[in-house]
Amino acid sequence: RAKSAGGNRYELADEEADARAITRHGLTTALPTALERGEFFIEYQPLVHLGDGSVRGAEALVRWLHPQHGVLGPDRFIPLAEHTGLIVPLGRWVLEQSVRQAREWRERYDDAGPMRINVNLSPCQLTHPGLVQDTVDILERMGVPPDVLCLEVTESALIGADDDLLKPLRRLAEMGVDIALDDFGTGYSNLANLRRLPVSILKLDRSFTQSMQQFPADPVDLKIVEGIVSLAHSLDLAVTVEGVETGAQAEQLRILGCDTAQGWYYARPGPPERLHELALVDATG
Ligand code: C2E
Ligand code: MG
Ligand code: MG
Ligand code: MG
Repeated sequence: RAKSAGGNRYELADEEADARAITRHGLTTALPTALERGEFFIEYQPLVHLGDGSVRGAEALVRWLHPQHGVLGPDRFIPLAEHTGLIVPLGRWVLEQSVRQAREWRERYDDAGPMRINVNLSPCQLTHPGLVQDTVDILERMGVPPDVLCLEVTESALIGADDDLLKPLRRLAEMGVDIALDDFGTGYSNLANLRRLPVSILKLDRSFTQSMQQFPADPVDLKIVEGIVSLAHSLDLAVTVEGVETGAQAEQLRILGCDTAQGWYYARPGPPERLHELALVDATG
């Protein structure tokens, strides 16, 4: 930048960069003890059927209640956990908690239809050799059938994936675990490549939902979403949309044929009791 910006601004920028680096370093070193001390917790965000508005399940989203910094979102610490390898035990913990929660929902609301649980997997977990066995163990220990679980993998993690990377996902899919392609539409993947992947659900990225803000929405965006939905359905994939914030978006996406929606319009991520309320309202009409 130009010198005329003034010395103070350089200093300020440097201080901010230092503060960020210190925090990053501090957070990284605090991660392992945070897991031991139970500072992580999970919020659940409902997945809503666009056809009838019923709650069909929830996505598990991890948070860190840091003793000094308060609640930190996953974007603050998941990259650090990936970098240090802590993501493997952390991911296992998230999976176990989520499956336990799914079992509780099943015990309470078996009349309301199966409540499913979506859990995010990071690329490091995909390449970790224990993934399939850990998942099988957790499901068996909790007595939860595999078809209750959906593992979300981002499109970018699977771009150019070779068979070795896909093998564990295939195994899980064969067992009945659903695999969802998260943030779909942001990764420039080859659409024809979809048939090679063991996925059964596309999660359309929030950017598509955002372009449905206006009613009627931009005609080109409508065509793109329409095309993705029809391709997905012709490949027997269900389509979930992320980031639905308004009723107009929900209606537009329903008309376009999307199957399931998730977003603040229905509910923000929250404690599991919140899901109890939503599902109960739903079950009683
Ligand atoms: P994601 O899997 O794409 O999750 C959706 C994100 O969108 C969540 O952010 C959610 O809170 C947010 N969101 C939901 N509805 C709306 C809406 O209507 N509007 C807007 N603006 N945002 C909405 P969050 O909780 O901060 O999570 C961010 C990302 O962190 C997730 O993106 C996921 O990639 C990752 N993540 C979360 N939990 C885990 C985990 O347990 N393991 C791993 N590996 N990654 C996780
Ligand atoms: Mg996700
Ligand atoms: Mg997503
Ligand atoms: Mg996303």
